[in-house]
Amino acid sequence: MTTETCNLLGLDQAALTAWLAARGQRAFHARQLMAWIYRRRCTNFDAMTDLSMAFRAVLKEQARIVPPELVDTRESRDGTRKWLLDSGTGNRVEMVFIPEADRGTLCISSQVGCAMDCAFCATGAQGFNRNLTSAEIVGQLWLANKLLPPRTCDLPAVSNVVFMGMGEPLANYRNLLPAIRIFTDPLGFNLSKRRVTVSTSGLVPAMDRLSEEGDVSLAISLHAPDNALRDELVPINRRHPVEELMAACRRYIQGGTHRHVLIEYVMLDGVNDTDAHARRLARRLNGLNAKVNLIPFNPYPDARFECSSRERIDCFREILLNAGIMTVTRRTRGDDIEAACGQLAGQVRDRTRHRIGARRLQSEITA
Ligand code: SAH
Ligand code: SF4
Repeated sequence: MTTETCNLLGLDQAALTAWLAARGQRAFHARQLMAWIYRRRCTNFDAMTDLSMAFRAVLKEQARIVPPELVDTRESRDGTRKWLLDSGTGNRVEMVFIPEADRGTLCISSQVGCAMDCAFCATGAQGFNRNLTSAEIVGQLWLANKLLPPRTCDLPAVSNVVFMGMGEPLANYRNLLPAIRIFTDPLGFNLSKRRVTVSTSGLVPAMDRLSEEGDVSLAISLHAPDNALRDELVPINRRHPVEELMAACRRYIQGGTHRHVLIEYVMLDGVNDTDAHARRLARRLNGLNAKVNLIPFNPYPDARFECSSRERIDCFREILLNAGIMTVTRRTRGDDIEAACGQLAGQVRDRTRHRIGARRLQSEITA
């Protein structure tokens, strides 16, 4: 009888230790294995020469270290890179690397498609196929660091990770959490918790769990200052309205030290970008330790919106700044290769739960 091998990329230190214990192996082997996997980026058990032959034989029989398969690579004229990754049964997800002078940011996917159905998002328009496994999430960072030249001889290429690719990360909480642990574990990727950002459309119960268990940076896709408009743009708002979302942001900030929340606001021409919207947004954020990122809308085929003009975005920003809210306009990167925010569509097949959005029960989403 053949048994399915375990992809070790999906096991955080505690899970790896338990997996080894179940096979009669001592806990210190977890540290040795993690050094091979994350420091040396080795996938071949035979090369792990500080492990006994007998232990290596067990690993070869029962485990594997396999990142997602690379299907295509594109590089933008601004240096941004987009990779298309195979996620089985004809599905593909995308990840994007954005190089900057002082950092290298990897934007990763958490689901094949997305069920949240936000009105302005290419991923949402694709519908939902399935959650990525922890190994598939971790495998993206592992692969990027393997493919890219290091920043310095000891520092890998990726210094920051943002869950802003395909999918709603908090709707895949179960697989997200081990991935976050591996990203921030000194024996894993050793990233500072402030350099890992989870972006959410506003799944309030999972935000509270993340506050307790994750302690990473949080970004909220707000996009509208009040419920009538947000109900239309971000359908999950019908389940968790703006007041509830803002209260959850406050709890998140108070739940740890040095925490703030990043508010994302996509600029949609004539929809959410007037002076009145800016003033209402400023009032909404009053007293919250928040920073606002204005995101110029990135078009995609069949999109129903257009991007606000440069002047409009500047006026909107001025109003927020005058209200004392730190606000920056996000620079559009990689739009010539459809790698900019909201343009990631991958390839989503078998959309059995196509565009469920707010109609799906919260308990199902976070289960
Ligand atoms: N699902 C998560 C994370 C992925 S989307 C979330 O919604 O937060 C990352 C960011 O891109 C979110 O703020 C999202 O609202 C924004 N976005 C989606 N479509 C966009 C588009 N067409 N143009 C600009 N930003 C977009
Ligand atoms: Fe999903 Fe985020 Fe796109 Fe909304 S904006 S459909 S939550 S990926």
